[in-house]
Amino acid sequence: MDKIDLRSDTVAWPTPAMRQAMANAEVGDDVFGDDPTVNRLQAMAAERMGMEAGLFVSSGTQGNLVAILSHCTRGDEVILGDKAHTFNYEAGGIAALGGVHPRTVPVQPDGTLRLDDIRRAVRPPDVHFAPPRLLCLENTQGSLGGMPVGAAYTRSAAALAHELGLKVHVDGARIFNAAAALGCAARDLVDGVDSVTFCLSKGLCAPVGAVLCGSAAFIEQARRIRKIVGGGMRQAGVLAAAGIVALEVMAGRLAEDHANARRLAEGLMQIDGVVLDIEQVQTNMVMFTLSDDCPLAPAHISARLAEHDIVTLPRLPFRLVTHYWITPERVERVIEAFREIFAAG
Ligand SMILES: *Cc1c(COP(=O)(O)O)cnc(C)c1O
Repeated sequence: MDKIDLRSDTVAWPTPAMRQAMANAEVGDDVFGDDPTVNRLQAMAAERMGMEAGLFVSSGTQGNLVAILSHCTRGDEVILGDKAHTFNYEAGGIAALGGVHPRTVPVQPDGTLRLDDIRRAVRPPDVHFAPPRLLCLENTQGSLGGMPVGAAYTRSAAALAHELGLKVHVDGARIFNAAAALGCAARDLVDGVDSVTFCLSKGLCAPVGAVLCGSAAFIEQARRIRKIVGGGMRQAGVLAAAGIVALEVMAGRLAEDHANARRLAEGLMQIDGVVLDIEQVQTNMVMFTLSDDCPLAPAHISARLAEHDIVTLPRLPFRLVTHYWITPERVERVIEAFREIFAAG
C-alpha cells in the first residue's frame, strides 16, 4: 500500500500471496455448489468456528442480513446493542428487506449487553408485541474501539437467550482480533451460539468477502436467502482463494496489529492535546479525542497528516486502525507527524 491509511482495516490491500492464489484458483459455478475453492473456504471457516457449515457471502453486512433473515420472519423482533453495527451501519437492511423489528439494549463499556437488560427486552407472548426471535451480539465491539468480548460472557448470554426461546447470532466481523487479544481460539468465542458472521476483508486483508457459519440446516436456509438478496455468485473461487490465505496465514498474525496499535497509542498519549484511554486499546484500534484547550480542529489535523501521506477520517473521536500494511516503522512515522502537527499548533 502506497499510503499510510489508518481509516479502517477494510482499506487493507490483498497480500501478494493472495493475488497469486486468486490467479491460480480452481473454480466452478458456486450457485450449483460446484466451486471447489469456495467449498474449501466454507469448510475451513466452519471448522474454525466449530460449526457444521459455512456460506461465503459478499460482505459482513450481507452475512448479518442473511443470518437475521434466516432466523426471523417478517414482524419478528431482534434484540441487539444500541451501538451494534447491524443497528447503526447496515442501512436498516433487516427492516427494509426483512420486516424485522430491532429492539435495542445499551452496550456496556466492556462491549457486552447486561443479561438483565436482555431478559427485560424479551417480552412474553402478547398481541401487542413483535415476537422476540433472535439475540445479536458483536465481537469485537467496533464502536467502542474494538473491544473483545470473552467466551464466558457469550456462553452465558447465549444460554439465557436459549432459555428465553431466542436464537443467537454473533456479528464477529473481527472475531479473530478478539481471539488474538484474548489468547483463545475463535471457536471458543462462539461456543453455544447458533450462527456467526466474520469478515475476510478487514484485518485478514482479503479483497472481498465474509463467511456465515451455523448448522447444516441453517446454512441450507441461508443459501436460499443469500440468493434472494442477489448474493449467489458464480466463479467465486477467485475471491474465496484470497479468503483461504486470510484464514491460513493472516488470522495468525493479528497480534502484530494489536502491538502496533498499542505502540501508536503510547506515542500519541505523550502529546499535549491528545486525550486517550490506553485501556480502550485492546485490539487494532486507537480512539482518542482532543483536550478542551487544544486549538486544533480535526479537519486541520487530517489535512496536515495527508501532507505526510497519512490518511485519517477528520472526526472526533479520532479512530486509527492498524492492519497488515501499517508496519512498526510506519507507526513511528505517524507518531512523528502527530508530534510535529501538534507542536506547530
Ligand atoms: C465492518 C463490519 C460489518 C460489516 O462488514 P462489511 O464487510 O463492511 O459489510 C459488520 N459488523 C461489524 C462489527 C463491522 O465492523
